[in-house]
Amino acid sequence: MKVILSYGLGADSTAILTRWLSARSSRNFDLKDLIVVIAQTGDEHLETGHLVETHVFPLLAKHRIRTIQVARASNSQRDGIVTLDDTTEPTTCYIQGAYRLSDEMVEVATVPQTGGIRKCSLKAKGWPLDVLIAQLTGGEEFVHVVGFETDELTRMMRDMPLGLPGRIPSYPLIEWGWDREQCEWEIFDHFKVWWPKSACSFCPFALASAAGLARALPRYVANPYEAFKALTMEYLAVAANPRQGLIGGRQLYDALLDFEGGPGLLADFQEHLNCMPWAIYDVRRAFRASADDMMKAANAARSMTRVAAGDRADMVRLLDYMATHHLPSGARYEIGRHQRVWIHERNLYYPCPEQAFVTAPALAIDKANKSFDQAWEEALKGPSQLTFV
Ligand code: SF4
Repeated sequence: MKVILSYGLGADSTAILTRWLSARSSRNFDLKDLIVVIAQTGDEHLETGHLVETHVFPLLAKHRIRTIQVARASNSQRDGIVTLDDTTEPTTCYIQGAYRLSDEMVEVATVPQTGGIRKCSLKAKGWPLDVLIAQLTGGEEFVHVVGFETDELTRMMRDMPLGLPGRIPSYPLIEWGWDREQCEWEIFDHFKVWWPKSACSFCPFALASAAGLARALPRYVANPYEAFKALTMEYLAVAANPRQGLIGGRQLYDALLDFEGGPGLLADFQEHLNCMPWAIYDVRRAFRASADDMMKAANAARSMTRVAAGDRADMVRLLDYMATHHLPSGARYEIGRHQRVWIHERNLYYPCPEQAFVTAPALAIDKANKSFDQAWEEALKGPSQLTFV
């Protein structure tokens, strides 16, 4: 029976590999039955890729373990997956992926959402691996090894009934009683490095806790490439919706302002933005009312359309001219980290429209929800003009 290890490039699954490959008694299968599968989101930390290439891949190559790296081909499942590598002698960790999660986020001017399930992970990791594993097993029984450790029993319980037909889940770290610290020591014993957290370099889940943020900020200051990727994504998302941000609705930009080395990094980031093509976007949101409470929004349909393009200075001047000479009655001009002309602002009562012209890097595509036109009509007729006595 095939034994398939989902290798997330982190300490947990790395520790499983080092133990299996160093202690024969730790496994009950032959290494020729083992396949290591990796889903590349396209946005993993450079450091992680370097460590995998330096320490893990040589070990896998030494034992001639089949190692397959895949990624999404596009934002549509219809386009399937791309095989980046399939070899028993892995050398390169293709962390650049194919269609990157960051491509998808930037195209629609948003950040991965932290409320509810990790949709980004299901799309960029879970789904490509399911497709690959289905191809490898053809519906036959297989052992699927996942690196949950002893602090992740809830995740293990949720994971157990999931997956493809024929899947027999296996959680070696929980069988061994290993927590993350023990995994890190196992790796340190072998490679003499402390394995960092693996994640997309902008992962909002990694920034959600104080400890996660404390780990991430020095990493950003030390690695402007990764910082600019995260900051650009956030900047664009906030331009489209001031309530966005990579730290649970708060902005990474603000956290870096108060961190040693952060202001210098942010000055360089502004220069980075200056070198990009820019646009003025017309961003509209049509809020529907909750069924039983007109002071609560049910959901919103959004439209984002590029109305002008050029360099940053031109776009700023153009919007400034519009705001100075053609500001409609009731509109508001806002200048700060973002430059906006608010045509409609969110109301206390729903349905209601929200509309702003905003300058931002020209990275988002024109896009509207299918239901937008109808929702917009309804929002414009909403109670925003009512006077409550
Ligand atoms: S690492 Fe974070 S951002 Fe990347 S796919 Fe996983 S949850 Fe989403």
